[in-house]
Amino acid sequence: MRIRAAAIAAPHAPVEIIEIAVPDLARGAALLRTVYSEVCGTDVHLHHGRLSGVPYPLVPGHVSVGRIEAMRGPITDVNGDSLREGHLVTFLDVHETCGACFHCLVAKQTTRCPSRKVYGITYGAADGPLGGWAEQIWMKPGVKMIRLPDRLAPETFIGGGCGLVTALHAVDRAQIALDQSVVVLGLGPVGQSVVALARLSGASEVVAVDAVADRLAYARRMGASATIAIVDHNHEGHETLHEGHEQLHDGHEGLREGREGSQKEHVSRVRELTAGHGADVVIEASGAPSAVSDALDMVRDGGRVVICGHYTDNGAVKIHPHFQVNRKHVEIRGVWGCDYSHFHRAVAIAARHGERFPWRDMVTRSYRLDEAGEALAAVEQRTVMKALIAPNE
Ligand SMILES: [Zn+2]
Ligand SMILES: [Zn+2]
Repeated sequence: MRIRAAAIAAPHAPVEIIEIAVPDLARGAALLRTVYSEVCGTDVHLHHGRLSGVPYPLVPGHVSVGRIEAMRGPITDVNGDSLREGHLVTFLDVHETCGACFHCLVAKQTTRCPSRKVYGITYGAADGPLGGWAEQIWMKPGVKMIRLPDRLAPETFIGGGCGLVTALHAVDRAQIALDQSVVVLGLGPVGQSVVALARLSGASEVVAVDAVADRLAYARRMGASATIAIVDHNHEGHETLHEGHEQLHDGHEGLREGREGSQKEHVSRVRELTAGHGADVVIEASGAPSAVSDALDMVRDGGRVVICGHYTDNGAVKIHPHFQVNRKHVEIRGVWGCDYSHFHRAVAIAARHGERFPWRDMVTRSYRLDEAGEALAAVEQRTVMKALIAPNE
């Protein structure tokens, strides 16, 4: 028996169906029958060859849900409960974090461990069925599986998916205090979950900013108290994810000599909504370089900016260190990767709050394995908010 999978042979190559041998299961290993895997913005970057250390040909799909079809146990979860055939699980897509290097032991920054491998990103098809765009996914020994509680529909968890997990890490980094104001720039799957999690964190005002009307409307459902539509006067707006790569955005108004802040409408609007102060926290999830400068203009003096939209090189942007950072006493934080804790808590949050926040409705469409190329194109062109691959349908 072979496993059918959708693969990217090389950067820019069309997605094609391949077959991979079923692995022998060592003690502690399992085989999942894939229920859903997702198509993430990262997969678009993978298709364009814009991430380093990727062993093509590649079966994408890093966050997935599947049912345990075969296993060589015993395998237990972090609570010591046994996992069994038939259980519906997701799993931490990061594996082989070493626990022995400088990053793991001294800096305690395991998401920067150089040994870590990621399903669907840095494991290639030659390593085995280790991506979610496949009928089955091999759980190597030691991969951390998390059982979805009975009350959590797989559609709800995967609707949040990678974006929910990433957003959780970003909101942790944002350290939102009760009653604070939060601005979210960019309302793709990460930004939408940031909106919901900022609400759950006790923010009184959550302002969602994007250029796309549908996404603004959806953010209201996710808990945004106000929305701001970006008006793209000069083609340097937030939606130009794939344009930002080429040029430095040196046209930014905030850089003019002697100016103390941007006159952009969406920046001014944030000031209006915050009694002229700017927001306590701004979370950038758009991927546009100019949004980082906007975030610095929108945050209040002494506030915090978290950047989680730049998982690939989208280009550079000029900032003004005096006006935008030093004098404002602003704190800027990055967010890279996720660890087990984020997956564990994301499952719990989706189970507890999946009725209040419509993660499952974020999924625009689910695609068969042989439609994976179409799904990837739809995510790239942003004609869908979220696309799933359902390899066994
Ligand atoms: Zn390490
Ligand atoms: Zn992802």
